[in-house]
Amino acid sequence: MSTHEERPRVLAIVLDAADPRLVRSWTEAGHLPVLEQLMRGGGMARLSSPSEWMPEAAWPTMITGCGPGGHGIYSWRSIQPGTNVRRRTPNGTWRQPVWQLLRRCGAASRIVLLDIPYSMPLGDPAVTEVVGWGERGAVRRTSWPPDLLERVVARHGAYPDWVAEDYTRWPLEEARLLATLRRAITRRTDLLEGLLRGDAWDLCMASYSEPHNAAHAFYRHLEPGSWAYHARRARRHSNRLLEVYRAVDSALGRLVATVPDGTDVVVLSGKGFRVNTSGEEVLGRVLTGLGYQVPAVKPGRLRALDATRWLVRTLAPRPLRRRIMSGRSWQERDRILEALWTESTDWARTRAFAETDPGHGCVRLNVSGREPHGIVDPGREYDALCAELVAELRALTHARSGAPAVADVALAREVADGPHVDKLPDLFVKWSSRELLDEVRHPRLGIVRERTKELQTAEHTGEGFLIGSGPSFRQGVELQGGDLADFAPTLLHLMGAPIPTDMDGEVLEGLLVPAGPAGGPVRREPIAWDQDPWALDSASHTPAALLDQPA
Ligand SMILES: [Zn+2]
Repeated sequence: MSTHEERPRVLAIVLDAADPRLVRSWTEAGHLPVLEQLMRGGGMARLSSPSEWMPEAAWPTMITGCGPGGHGIYSWRSIQPGTNVRRRTPNGTWRQPVWQLLRRCGAASRIVLLDIPYSMPLGDPAVTEVVGWGERGAVRRTSWPPDLLERVVARHGAYPDWVAEDYTRWPLEEARLLATLRRAITRRTDLLEGLLRGDAWDLCMASYSEPHNAAHAFYRHLEPGSWAYHARRARRHSNRLLEVYRAVDSALGRLVATVPDGTDVVVLSGKGFRVNTSGEEVLGRVLTGLGYQVPAVKPGRLRALDATRWLVRTLAPRPLRRRIMSGRSWQERDRILEALWTESTDWARTRAFAETDPGHGCVRLNVSGREPHGIVDPGREYDALCAELVAELRALTHARSGAPAVADVALAREVADGPHVDKLPDLFVKWSSRELLDEVRHPRLGIVRERTKELQTAEHTGEGFLIGSGPSFRQGVELQGGDLADFAPTLLHLMGAPIPTDMDGEVLEGLLVPAGPAGGPVRREPIAWDQDPWALDSASHTPAALLDQPA
C-alpha cells in the first residue's frame, strides 16, 4: 500500500446486475466476506432504478445521474429520433458522463475506466478507457490510448463473447459457463490490477459483467415454483450463481488490497433479477391484432391471421438472429435487422407499434411531424390513442388463471421526466411476473400466444444497491429510498466537484461522514452538459473537442 494523499480518490466497482436481495442474504450467510467487511466498515443504500420499466436504462442512469428523461436511453436497440428505423443504440447518452464533468472542472487529474457501457473514449490523455473488452453484448470495442485495447487482448486474451448469449443451457453447458465466468473474473481482476498500478489516479470505475451473464443462466435455480425451475437440476446446481458472486467477492478483496490507503471504495449495482415471464411477442401480436400496427403485406395475399404470424416471425429476434446471423459482423447483422424492421410494417397505415424485449415492452405512436410517415395528430388524437391503448393493454389476462397479464402500463412522461423524454417511446408496459405469459386473453382478440421455446429464463427488477466504505463514509448505516441516479452526484461530491443544477440524483449524504473529506456543502451549478450520442457514436473519436466545451 502506498501513502495516504490529501486528494480524494475513489474506486467504484459496478457488479453488473448483482441482485441486492442475494447480496444481502449471501453476505449474512458469510459467503461474501469482502462485501461483508465493506458493509460493516461503511454503509449501504438500497437504490430504486429505472430498470423497473426499462432494464437498459440502468447504466445510462448510473453514469449521468439522470433518469431516462434526462439521458434519453431506454433500450439497447432504439429508434433513432426523426426516423422509424430501429438501430443499435449508440455508445453514449444525451448527457455527458460523470467522469467528463470531473475532468471539465479539474476535480480529477487521472481517471481509469474499464468496460463501462454507453460510453466512448473522450480522447483525453488523462482518461485511460477500455470500452467493450468484457462488456456484456459489446459491439463497439475501442480504447484510449488507441493501442491499449490491443495490448489488453495480447496480454489477457479476448473476452469470451458467448457467455452473454441467453438461452436455457444443459447441465454440461452450465458447468462450462460457470468455469468460463470464473476464469473471466480472474482475468478481469488481473487487468484491473495492472491499470490501477499505473499512474496515480483519482477515480477508477470498472464493471464486472459476470454477475449479469451468470444470472441470466443460473438465476432460475433460485426461484422454486416458477416455470423456469426444475427441482432436480436446481438441487444439483442451485449454487452456481453463488459461485460467481464468491469469485467476484474475492476479486474485490484483491482490488481493495491494491488501492492506496485512504481510497473511498464504492460497490454498486443498477438492477436485480427475477424470473422472466415475457410478453415479448404478445405485445406486437396484440397491437397487430387490434389493427394499430399494420404489417406490410400485399392485400388479399394473406389472411389477417397469417399476416400477424408473418409479422411476428419476421420481427422475432431470437431464432432468426441465430439462424441467419452466425458468421456475420455486427454491422451486417444490424443492417439485416434494420431492413426487416422497416420493411415489415406498413408505416402509412400504422398508428402505434411495439418495441419489445424479454419481460418488458414499449409502444410508440406514429405521430405526424415526429415520425417520418406519422398519421396520428399530436394533441387530442394522440392523448385519446394513448388512453385507448392503455385500456386495451390493461384488459389482457392470463388465459388460464384469469389474472391480469399486465402489472402496469404508463405513459413515458409518467415514468420519466426531463429534456430528453421525447427520445423515449410513448408507453411502457410492465408485464405481470406472477406466471409465464404463454397464453394471454384479450376480450375481443381471444387467446394471443407467446412462443416459449427458447425463452430466456431470467429478467430484471428495478432494485439496485450501493455500498460505500472509506474515509468519506459513515459506518453501519443502511439507507432506504435512494435512487440509482444518486450515484453520479455522490461521486461528484466525494471528489469535490459541482453538480449540474439539472442532474436528477441527490447526494447520498446519509452515507457520508459530515466532517469527512467530502463533508462540505453540496454545490449545484448550472452546467451545459447535453450531447447527441448518435453524432458522437458515428464520429471517429480523435482527441475531439469534447473537452473544449465551456465548463
Ligand atoms: Zn440482462
